[in-house]
This record gives sequence, C-alpha cells and structure tokens, in this order.
Amino acid sequence: MKKFIQLLACSACVQLSVHATDPFYQTAAITAPAKFEERDSFIWLVLDDAKRHYEMPWATSPRDLGIVALESNRVYNFTIEQEIKELPGVKWPSGSAFTMTNETVVKVQMGGKTIYDHEMCEVHKARMEPKVAFIAYGLVKPGPDEPPYQTANQLFPHFREILYGGCCHSSDSPGTDRIYVCNECKAAYQKWKDAHKQSTK
Ligand SMILES: [Zn+2]
Repeated sequence: MKKFIQLLACSACVQLSVHATDPFYQTAAITAPAKFEERDSFIWLVLDDAKRHYEMPWATSPRDLGIVALESNRVYNFTIEQEIKELPGVKWPSGSAFTMTNETVVKVQMGGKTIYDHEMCEVHKARMEPKVAFIAYGLVKPGPDEPPYQTANQLFPHFREILYGGCCHSSDSPGTDRIYVCNECKAAYQKWKDAHKQSTK
C-alpha cells in the first residue's frame, strides 16, 4: 500500500506545476456499502449514497486488504477526510478558485463498533499524537542498525516522526505533512534497538 501511495504521490507531483496553498481539512460521514472496482491494476473503494459519491485508491491487488479488511457490498459507516488545496493564480472560467481535493477514509464503523480509526495505532490500540513531519525524498534505505521496513511495519508501524515522499521531488513538493505518532511504537522501537545492539555485540 505504501508503494502505491508513493506511486500516486510521484504522479501527482509531476502533474502539479503550481504550488498549492496550505491545505485545509474537513470531514464527512457516509453510510454506504463498500464497493470495490479494479482499475489500471489497482483496487478502488467506491462509496455512494443518495446524495454523495466518493472514490479513492484502496489496495494494490485483491490480496492487499488496504488499511482495514472490508467485506464487499457490506454496509459500513465511513468517515472521510477531505484535504482541500487551493492553487493560487489558477481560476475556473467563472472566476472561482481552482481547488484540488484528496479524500481519505479516516474511520470505519460497523454495527456501532469502530473497526478502523487513523488516530489509533493498530498494533498497540493506543491513541496517537498528531505531529507535523518533514518529508524525505529520494531512495531512503534503513541504516545497518535500523530495523527492516517489514519488522517496523509489523511491530511498531508509527514510531517515525518523518515521512518518505517517494522518488519524485521538485521545488513545488511539500516539505511537511501531518502524521500520527504512537508513543508505544516509539518505546517498542527503542526496545528492538537495545535488543539488536546486545545480540550483535
Ligand atoms: Zn503503536
């Protein structure tokens, strides 16, 4: 999934030639069946009710469950966060500002039970702290004393206070973005580092 996001980020920064203003966020709630559509070898989540329509990239393949496993055509309560960026100096013919909207699922509930919440660490079931993180671009490889990505993603997925922005960078690329950091992930990372140091002595 991360690769997929990076891929999308790369294509977005190639296409975006005008620097956007700082984004603002708004949330919307929709109760709808989870419908999945395969397009260009990616899986998209499509949500429709009588009034609204949302669609967003969800998974890289049918085997990839996305951020949370959802049953196709089952009805869930989704909370969608809309990140809205205005492009200064770009106007529609009507004169109104040109905006870009990026939609993300931030919470999923089923039968009154929360099954996904982007503010909760999926490993430690702990509420995370919002932070503003710098974005590192280029090919970022973990150092010899650092845990492999797979280990970090399984044991402490939210310990980093930095974001990886993928291979594509230009003067218009954003320098920071919001993230959520889990203190228990940070403690687990430190524990892994201590144990790894001892085992390599
Ligand atoms: Zn955690």
